[in-house]
Amino acid sequence: MISIPPTTRDHPVWLHVGTLLDGTSTSPVHDAHVVYDAAGIRFVGRNGQTPPAASMRPGQTAPDVVAPDATLLPGLIEAHAHLFLEGGELDLDKRAAYLKQDAAGLLSSAMPRLEKLVRLGVIAVRDAGDKDGVGLALSSCARESRSRGRGRREFSGRIPGGEHAATGQPSALSLDPMPYLDSPGAAIHHRGRYGSFMGGALEDYASPADCVAARIAAGADRIKLIPTGIINFKLGAVTTEPQMTVEELRQLVAAANATGRQTFAHASGDAGIERVIESGVDSVEHGFFVRDDQLARMRDRRIAWVPTFAPVQLQVDEAVRYKWDAAIVGNLQRILDQHAASLVKAHALGVLIVAGSDAGSCGVAHGMGFLRELELMQRAGLPPLAVINAATGVSAGRLGFGENFGRIEPGALSRFILTKHPPHETVAHLRRAKTVVFDGRVYESDDTPDVTGL
Ligand SMILES: [Zn+2]
Repeated sequence: MISIPPTTRDHPVWLHVGTLLDGTSTSPVHDAHVVYDAAGIRFVGRNGQTPPAASMRPGQTAPDVVAPDATLLPGLIEAHAHLFLEGGELDLDKRAAYLKQDAAGLLSSAMPRLEKLVRLGVIAVRDAGDKDGVGLALSSCARESRSRGRGRREFSGRIPGGEHAATGQPSALSLDPMPYLDSPGAAIHHRGRYGSFMGGALEDYASPADCVAARIAAGADRIKLIPTGIINFKLGAVTTEPQMTVEELRQLVAAANATGRQTFAHASGDAGIERVIESGVDSVEHGFFVRDDQLARMRDRRIAWVPTFAPVQLQVDEAVRYKWDAAIVGNLQRILDQHAASLVKAHALGVLIVAGSDAGSCGVAHGMGFLRELELMQRAGLPPLAVINAATGVSAGRLGFGENFGRIEPGALSRFILTKHPPHETVAHLRRAKTVVFDGRVYESDDTPDVTGL
């Protein structure tokens, strides 16, 4: 553990560390000086460059912390998680029972996850959708705290979005620390097709534009689309036709973009991925069975790819529990191997690769499942630093978050990780003891963090 003093807006802290991973560079920076305060990073010096007097406390001549064996990197961004679900639960009956809670129950189960995420090093979450308004409630809490300035984050306990409003009395809850969080609210799918557990139907509205307008009125920060089904594990393929036409997708994307919002699309199977690419979404989620020519067009159009290995790998790891026979495990392994090969090609092509775990999925715990996803990306063949960039600067650079994090540079918020276990040697080191700084406040975690309820 690296002990560092807390800071305020007027009282900066000067760190001198052996290694800096800035979130975008393809090699580590050595012998780095970082000065920050509660409002953000004031100075970053590379190769021994020391800070100017103006960035320090009056009269300060030496760093507050000298840690030649430490690596400093941006806090991690989980770009695909369903905060309304408890991911770590493996028992299918218990998962079904959990989902029978009302919206208020789901929300009160989701809240304690947030502080644990920060302690694990996850400082931002792009929620990927739920139909009960849990993500919207958490997002509105985060937005309120932004508009009030950075202080303690209080939450009224109300769920915005009308029809799903919680019935219980509003309760004053403190979330401290709370990661940055944004949400699409209910994803958009076609009635009778995949996605009803996390979305609402396009058929509920007169037009795609009306559907998007309703999501935005409910508070959506971005628009989540479900243009395809999912992998049929038994057959080892996506066996259903895509749900949405290119024309529908284009209308949904245009309506979202007209209000300055990004779109992200659940898409597996090359037929559905094709429609998604042609519609101009901002990111392809999952992307199983993506073709090489499609990767090249994604690069050309700056469409990010969030490959989400973790939920499929979990099915292999837990094959006995779920009674998958050898043929099915063979299918799953073939799909994962193909996905890994595509990830390596995507990296070589220069596709914007963004890390997201689909946490909340069966066996994919929030936070820990994300760290597992990073390990799977590395195992697929990405260099560790490329994986870290996918979880920090590349993600922040493409996904248009409402706050400046994910990079260690002057002007970015002071949300970063300090560790003595270099993650650019192997990302598995991110599981180890670390110190997390969030807007200047300091949170320490050891090798065995509290992961209950994630
Ligand atoms: Zn998902």
